[in-house]
This record gives sequence, structure tokens and C-alpha cells, in this order.
Amino acid sequence: MQDMTTEMGCLDPWLEDGNIIITVQGKHFRVHRSVLSFYSEVFRDMFAVSHPCDDEEEMMDGCPVVRLQDAVADVEIILKALYDRSYIFFPETPMPISVLSAFLRMGKKYVIRQLFKEAERRLSFGTSPLVQLSTISAAGNVILFPRVSGADPFNFMVMNLASEVGLLSIVVIAVFYCCVACPAFSIVDGYEYNGIWYDLSAVNKRYCFLVQRYLAEVEKQLSQCLAFPAHNCIYGLTSQSPCYSGLLSNIRSIQCLKCPFTLWMNTWDHDLCVPCRAELRRKHEEARSRLWKNLPVDLGLGHWESLDKDAEMI
Ligand SMILES: [Zn+2]
Repeated sequence: MQDMTTEMGCLDPWLEDGNIIITVQGKHFRVHRSVLSFYSEVFRDMFAVSHPCDDEEEMMDGCPVVRLQDAVADVEIILKALYDRSYIFFPETPMPISVLSAFLRMGKKYVIRQLFKEAERRLSFGTSPLVQLSTISAAGNVILFPRVSGADPFNFMVMNLASEVGLLSIVVIAVFYCCVACPAFSIVDGYEYNGIWYDLSAVNKRYCFLVQRYLAEVEKQLSQCLAFPAHNCIYGLTSQSPCYSGLLSNIRSIQCLKCPFTLWMNTWDHDLCVPCRAELRRKHEEARSRLWKNLPVDLGLGHWESLDKDAEMI
């Protein structure tokens, strides 16, 4: 790019044969109507109402100007992605959070499906709620989004982005992880990481509050399903059964974990007879699955399967 155009606030891509100027926050990009229209029906409609013969139309360098109300960095990232295939990543290469943010936000707003889906895949846990649960059941030191780089440790940025663009299944899982791993005062007040302050949006703070309340209910219900020995306990159902004390220590263990959705642990077998191990393991898993499936319903969002229907419209 020439120095003069740089001084005028022109950024890459600035193409000499471009026929439209995209202006955002005093910066300019010279690109092609046809290319943007090909990827985005929103741009196509926008250009359709802009006529070169209109005397009142703003012009620059002989091209009509279209002003956008977005962040310069986001616009620059999507234009580079569309023009020179910047930000094409191998599946195992993490996507920087700035690119993820631009792809999701701009992909949603301007209906640029390829970029939106590319970013969405970086956050995906798979399709089954139970797969999601097993992925994060040992939450604690889990990197929840290993295919994204530069995110804050409790994923506040990802949560806010996912809420903004309607990826609600990602929101629910990230909120759940946050409630298990993040100190409550950081959820309320925000926190600093590497010199940057991160704060949850109001809607995500509300989800955190609801999930914390739900986790207390989960702990209670899982404790209840471990309250009595199996009907065929080899010690019988008398209060002297040693399986009672085994169950009591298991309930204490659940309470200490701070993550009540944790899978049945082998150490929980130690003080139980064989029939109790089998029956209580099964009851625990049934309750755990049922409660996980009900989590988004409790938040008022509906079932897991329908959470991302708005995002799928893109
Ligand atoms: Zn028993």
C-alpha cells in the first residue's frame, strides 16, 4: 500500500481496482461489491440500495462509501479472511480470541456463514449432552476451549461472545464450568488477568447465579440417591449394615468435590458390598444424566437439542 493512502487512514485490504470503500471509525478499506455480496446477503442488500448516480452519495477515490458501525479490528479481520485467506487454521492450531470474536460477531451480523461456522467449530464439544458432560465432569484444571488461544482462564470473553451471537449450549457449559472453577467474587465483580480486566455481561451473571443455585440442588439430589443401601445388600437393610457408613462417606466426598456432576469414583466402592456398588453406581449415573439434561431447562432456555437453533439459522 502507498504511503499516501496510509496517511489517509486506508488499511489493508486496499485494492486499486476495488469499487467500494468500507469506512469504519475513520479507517477505510477499498474492496469489491461482488466479493462481499458473494459471501454476505446483508452486504448484497446494503449495496443494492446504494446507487452510484445518487448526487448525495458520499464518494472517496471515485468509489461510493459505505459506513459501518463496527470495530475496525473486526472489519479488518473479516476482510482479510475473505480476501487473502488470512486466518485459515489447521484443526489443531488454536484460533486467537480476536479472530474468533470477529468471525462470530461479524459473521452473525452480516450473515457470513463460512466464518461463523469456522469459529463455532472451535468452541464445539460435540453433539451429545452426555459427551459434553463427560468432557468436563472433572472440571477444575480443565482448559475448556483448547482450540482457542488468548482467552482468559475462566472464559468470560467466550461466554459474553457466545451469549451475544446465540450459541447458548456453549454459554451453558461455560457458565457451569465457571461456577465450579471461578471464585464467586470474580463472577460478581470481574477479575484482572495479564493486565486486562474481564467482566461478565449482566445476562451471564444471571446465568451464573441460577447455575450456582442448581448445583446446590444437584448435590442434594445425588446425596438423596445414595442415602440407602441396595435392596439386595448382603448385610440386609438394617441400620447396622456397614454399607451405611460407606454411603455416608461417599456423600461427604460429593459435598467436598465442589463439582457434583463428577462421575462415580472408584474409591466410592471401597466400603460397599458388591450389590450396593452395582445398584448405587447405576442410580447415581441415572440421576447425574437426568440432572445434566435438565440444566438448560432450569435456566429457562429449553432442552440441549434446541439451544442453538438461532445460531443455526445463519
Ligand atoms: Zn451393601
